[in-house]
Amino acid sequence: MSTQITKVAKAYPKKHLAWASIASIITLVVLAVLPAPDASAKRTTLLLSPEVSSNTATTPQLAVPPNPSPPKTHWGKQLVKSGDTLSHIFKRAGLNAQDVYNITHFGGNSKTLTRLKPGQELLFDIDHEGRLNQLNYIESKLESTLFSKNDSGYTVNKTVKKLVAYSKYSEATINSSLFQAGQKAGLSQNLIMELANIFGWDVDFALDIRKGDSFKLIYEEMHLDGEKIKDGNILAAQFINQGKIFTAIQHESKGGDKNYFTPEGHSMRKAFLRSPINFARISSHFNLRRKHPVLHTIRAHKGTDYAASRGTPIKSTGDGKIIYAGRKGGYGRVVIVQHGQRYRTLYAHLNGYAKNARSGKRVKQGQTIGYVGSSGLATGPHLHYEFYLNGAVRNPVTVKLPHAQPIAKSEKANFLVHAENMQTQLAAYANAISPALASNN
Ligand SMILES: [Zn+2]
Repeated sequence: MSTQITKVAKAYPKKHLAWASIASIITLVVLAVLPAPDASAKRTTLLLSPEVSSNTATTPQLAVPPNPSPPKTHWGKQLVKSGDTLSHIFKRAGLNAQDVYNITHFGGNSKTLTRLKPGQELLFDIDHEGRLNQLNYIESKLESTLFSKNDSGYTVNKTVKKLVAYSKYSEATINSSLFQAGQKAGLSQNLIMELANIFGWDVDFALDIRKGDSFKLIYEEMHLDGEKIKDGNILAAQFINQGKIFTAIQHESKGGDKNYFTPEGHSMRKAFLRSPINFARISSHFNLRRKHPVLHTIRAHKGTDYAASRGTPIKSTGDGKIIYAGRKGGYGRVVIVQHGQRYRTLYAHLNGYAKNARSGKRVKQGQTIGYVGSSGLATGPHLHYEFYLNGAVRNPVTVKLPHAQPIAKSEKANFLVHAENMQTQLAAYANAISPALASNN
């Protein structure tokens, strides 16, 4: 959280009172729209629970249905250890081989019990005569299987709990790095990475970030029985980099794919990654009048060189089809990918090819196609990368990259409404947290 916002909070001592009333309004809203327990998690994402950082606002307590009261049985607990078998565990619980036989032969779907993993739990309900009445196999926080004794064997009931998604809001101003600002705002490492992935197509988080850049986002937190289990998706986010505003809204397609789009419906993704290697240093730039390091003559350097150690994976920068994978003069081992009609990329000096990286094979953006080497005319291991548009070579670092597929026409109208709504929410949260700042902006 920025110090600026902290100052604003101090300047308005009644803020907490205000928050208390906002919190109670939100709780009322939550109660009013809280879905039936088995309703899909999606509806609950409409619930708003603005929590920013501990120094600006208190989290409204969300109404979570209480746990059903546990049965009055006394459960003995056994933890599955590495190398355990069902017999080992039953023995520890005071049961014998006959009990193991009974439950594995007279319980429907008793195969479940053959898939024990270390760290899981078995809960035993054994009566005073030493008979196993119930066995509850806790596979995970979400899944369990209850075996209950009946006349002929055991009845089996599997329970799968559903996570409930709650929306949260966070914002921060960057002093040094996105990571530090994200942590201060209470975001997990995963969420910060996700945020960087969303805007990474437009903002180079290593080079472009300036003090005073800021971001705000609405994201989901997945809860189970009132407890946070993990982070969910980022639903909407805004990043201000050197005064330029980027806004991303998540959209789930009818096919279930989740992607980020601008409020106008353009993909946040570009059709090409800027670089075929993650976090690699450029060792030689595109230069059509360069002195060749090996040949010592003026020879165009038609691509960008990335310094990386031998064996570093090289990614295809876009979806396409490999049209050549083999040796080619000074390029050494090279892969050439055709992307639609207009674009072509080339990756040279490879140490080797990825499995399936053969001529004629389709590749996805980000798919590994080969590994860094020094084959051909190269002074040391590096990747030489070329980018062609309509047959003409371009500088891969500065070429304007086309957007990936926009939103499907049939889904666009709905998306535009959704995007508008999410933008309103982002603005409303920001305003609720720091009205002075919001109005100054
Ligand atoms: Zn080169």
